[in-house]
Amino acid sequence: MPHQYKPVSLVTGGAGFLGSHLTDRLLAEGHKVIAIDNLVTGNIINIEHLSGNPDYQFIRQDVTHYLFIPGRVDFVFHFASPASPIDYLELPIPTLKVGALGTHNALGLAKDKKARFLLASTSEVYGDPLVHPQKESYWGNVNPIGPRGVYDEAKRFAEAITMAYHRAHGVDTKIVRIFNTYGPRMRLRDGRVVPAFIGQALDGKPLTVFGDGSQTRSFCFVSDLIDGIFRLAMSDCHEPVNIGNPAEMTIRQFADEILRLTGSKSQIDFRPLPVDDPRVRQPDITQARAKLGWEPKVDLQEGMRKTIDYFAGRIKE
Ligand code: NAD
Ligand code: UDP
Repeated sequence: MPHQYKPVSLVTGGAGFLGSHLTDRLLAEGHKVIAIDNLVTGNIINIEHLSGNPDYQFIRQDVTHYLFIPGRVDFVFHFASPASPIDYLELPIPTLKVGALGTHNALGLAKDKKARFLLASTSEVYGDPLVHPQKESYWGNVNPIGPRGVYDEAKRFAEAITMAYHRAHGVDTKIVRIFNTYGPRMRLRDGRVVPAFIGQALDGKPLTVFGDGSQTRSFCFVSDLIDGIFRLAMSDCHEPVNIGNPAEMTIRQFADEILRLTGSKSQIDFRPLPVDDPRVRQPDITQARAKLGWEPKVDLQEGMRKTIDYFAGRIKE
């Protein structure tokens, strides 16, 4: 048998929730993977199952520092960044730096290696949106100096420099705008609403609903998201593409759904709404459907069951 060439993919943020799932998919597709992570919000547990895999290498490094990677690299997936509002509020300057300097380094590496580059952007580039649902053509409504601005503006800068490297240097770039995604390997205490409510429900503690719970979100299961990202990476789209599940609900409805699925008798505890918390969020996925042939397949009930099982195992540890 002739030796078959395996593409080499570099994943920044590879020990995080999404980076580790993306790594699993890339390995399953026959890639070699180099993961870079400084573990600021990631967890080595997410990649424990990969130790000893000859196609996998882990480098503990901050991507805001110069990246030296010997040998060939075919794809750079830039996922490094704190992602939960609690994390980026605690880490405002590292969040700005990884979005700006980290993206610059990752793009520089892609340019040098003539690799394809994919940026993990976010629905937060739309801020507190005045257009609903959000289409990629919407420019957003972001408060640059509010507490969430450190994340939103870092990602907006990251999108701008990605398009600049595409236009000025001809780098083959892609941008995915990720909407709220959940699943196994999220940190139980990362503060995002899915682990927060499941952890509280399983512990019999009150569910902390911020505001009156009338704000909306649309939740996508991780396997669907990763499939959309893989399709985007293999496509010829250079414009940003939304990937998310359009099934929208209020946070109050979501709390009730978690109580139902866990069978918990927890109460609801209403807390103040964080500053600049978007009132509504729902992806318009027309572009993903048309250009990638992608749409989500896992409904909330099925995805939540898998996620609840995962957290039930972690709570006992
Ligand atoms: P996560 O916190 O689990 O993963 C992020 C990873 O990046 C962590 O392992 C962290 O240690 C690493 N990291 C952060 N700064 C770094 C640095 N300077 N150098 C090296 N590594 C660094 O979060 P996630 O949910 O997996 O998010 C991954 C990416 O997807 C982020 O860029 C995030 O903005 C984006 N995103 C996620 C969602 C979502 O719903 N999960 C939504 C929108 C966008
Ligand atoms: N939220 C909540 N209780 C919590 C955590 C979050 O009511 O314990 C709300 C939050 O105010 C927001 C929504 O749930 O309206 C989603 O929050 P998350 O932190 O998951 O991410 P966001 O979509 O705001 O980036």
